[in-house]
Amino acid sequence: MLKMTVTSPEMTMAIGQQLAPGLRAKDVILLDGDLGAGKTTFTKGLAAGLGIKRNVKSPTFTIIREYQDGRLPLYHMDVYRLEDGSGDELGLEEYFNGDGVNVVEWSKFIADELPEHYLRIIFKRDDAAGENQRTLSFEPHGDHFDQLVAQLQASCHE
Ligand code: ADP
Ligand code: MG
Repeated sequence: MLKMTVTSPEMTMAIGQQLAPGLRAKDVILLDGDLGAGKTTFTKGLAAGLGIKRNVKSPTFTIIREYQDGRLPLYHMDVYRLEDGSGDELGLEEYFNGDGVNVVEWSKFIADELPEHYLRIIFKRDDAAGENQRTLSFEPHGDHFDQLVAQLQASCHE
């Protein structure tokens, strides 16, 4: 498992940006960690890496926001407020099997609706170490995501 420690929002965005080139349609990226841990900040970087120019805003109240102006569509979801089992109504499966990259904040709320393969990234604050410090842990499930994480690791050591 890959772990990275960052000390600024910009560093978190840069990692999201570096992940983007290896992404393809139907990819599912799960972002977990407390409120303010950096999940949306990471998604901003990922969106920039896909060439999305629009400002990425938290989908907390809308549950999903769609961005179509990049190399691939980005479906950014925050399922914190999704009622139990209502992933069907949202059309989760259609999104996961669709034409874009799926980024899901708070995936524990759709634990029963996850696809077989995905990349989970866990964000942790460490206030004792500094207000802006975060540890990102990458947990790939499936070959494609193993490769993606290996590429990310390589690109961060360049
Ligand atoms: P989440 O989506 O996990 O609730 P956000 O990305 O919306 O979190 O908010 C993270 C907040 O923490 C932002 O205000 C951001 O500026 C701040 N922050 C401080 N340090 C970091 C860091 N290293 N990575 C990401 N965000 C950070
Ligand atoms: Mg968020």
